[in-house]
Amino acid sequence: MKNIVLYPNPILDKVSNEVVFPLDEETKSDIKDMWDVVKADGVGLAAPQIGVSKQICIIHLSEVERGKQAQDILLINPKIVFESRVESLMIEGCLSFPEQFYEIWRPANVNIEYYDEQGKKKLLKARDLIARVAQHEVDHLQGKLFIKKGGRKMDPSEFTESTVIAE
Ligand SMILES: [Zn+2]
Repeated sequence: MKNIVLYPNPILDKVSNEVVFPLDEETKSDIKDMWDVVKADGVGLAAPQIGVSKQICIIHLSEVERGKQAQDILLINPKIVFESRVESLMIEGCLSFPEQFYEIWRPANVNIEYYDEQGKKKLLKARDLIARVAQHEVDHLQGKLFIKKGGRKMDPSEFTESTVIAE
């Protein structure tokens, strides 16, 4: 399995390259690598986190995290086209920042235009945890990191059993 790129690797600060359709074999292989990594550990992953500077990210919410509904969504060239004025506060972590957690305000709901693997344009109406993970991952593709959003850094000792962490 591909290793996770850790901060401060400079690829994490870059704007990733747009993906061209139809997907080439290399990009298909990158996507397979991303699924392998995120299914082993994590709720979301962006391509630069495995060292690939392409506009691709994944949301992977298991059945446990979403009640009955499992969610696997692959977003290519995603753009946030709507942000709710209502914001929510959640604790975020990141595979590229082991054991670091921040309390961050973000729009509670967002709509995201993106392309699927076939190059078909789609719209994701992201709510709740999906909206949270999607914003964190789309930010990665713009080189925007969660540690720079002015959130309060949290110590894991502050967490309780009911603490939900978008990691
Ligand atoms: Zn991250």
